[in-house]
Amino acid sequence: MLVDLHLHTCFSDGTYTPEELASEAQRAGLKAIALTDHDTMEGCPRLATACNTFGIEFIPACEFTAELGDVEIHLIGYFLDSENARLKVELVRFQEVRQQRIREMVDRLNHLGIPLRTDAVFRLANCRAPGRPHVARTLVSEGLCSSLDEAFDRFLKKGKPAWVPKFKMSALAAIELIHEAGGLAVLAHPGLNRTDEVIPQVIEAGLDGLECFHTKHSTSMTEHYLQIAEANRLLVTGGSDCHGMSKGKPLIGTIKVPYQYVESLRDAYHKRAVDRGIMLVQRSPAI
Ligand code: AMP
Ligand code: FE
Ligand code: FE
Ligand code: ZN
Repeated sequence: MLVDLHLHTCFSDGTYTPEELASEAQRAGLKAIALTDHDTMEGCPRLATACNTFGIEFIPACEFTAELGDVEIHLIGYFLDSENARLKVELVRFQEVRQQRIREMVDRLNHLGIPLRTDAVFRLANCRAPGRPHVARTLVSEGLCSSLDEAFDRFLKKGKPAWVPKFKMSALAAIELIHEAGGLAVLAHPGLNRTDEVIPQVIEAGLDGLECFHTKHSTSMTEHYLQIAEANRLLVTGGSDCHGMSKGKPLIGTIKVPYQYVESLRDAYHKRAVDRGIMLVQRSPAI
């Protein structure tokens, strides 16, 4: 009874369609999955439908980039209401910022003598929330770099000549947005960005959970974050952060996350919804 709560599709920088991702989840024998595309929830309706046909539980979610001081953090909102008016406006804004950032990165590459065209990146990305992986894939497909690693190492990594910083909301604003849209805010892959120093402040800002299980977390890191979660009464989540095929095999399902964490997440979501004054169950009228 395993789950994977960190997955991407072609609606952001993953390569699978929602239907392909659902098939992979079925092949991996997963009981529940969540879609956590960057700055978009457009893949959720299709993935929900595909999961339904396989009898897999589906959780709609979204991964946001935020900052606390000069530390970049990623926050996942689980059980977000994609119809929430403010969330819809903010997602469109984040997507426009991403598209503008692609133009700036291509501009920088052109100044470096790399003849990449913006429309080639947008054509390959074919989504509203493009990112650096799309620039890297286009560089490779146009024969301008020999591998994705080369594209990132030479041009796109932070501090490299075509890198453009991304607009980030404050952690507080991101958590407020997630809560306003009815979601639970989880700090993604804390072991990846060495975010330990800001965890107390993110908790202070209203954090609900910690992604303890992640592809890039060692066993000791996972233990460390499970302890932090327990000490601070945070929900525990985990997922592979699968972006599609990687080294001949997709990452989906490779992180062993027990189903019990989905039950706790769902309970917390329902409790929050009730606290927000939403009647989930029709009460029988008092006699
Ligand atoms: P962006 O959101 O545009 O800044 O791009 C970040 C995404 O790029 C991450 O979610 C990863 O999918 C991917 N990424 C970051 N660093 C690398 C790297 N060194 N090699 C391949 N993909 C990377
Ligand atoms: Fe990504
Ligand atoms: Fe992330
Ligand atoms: Zn991710």
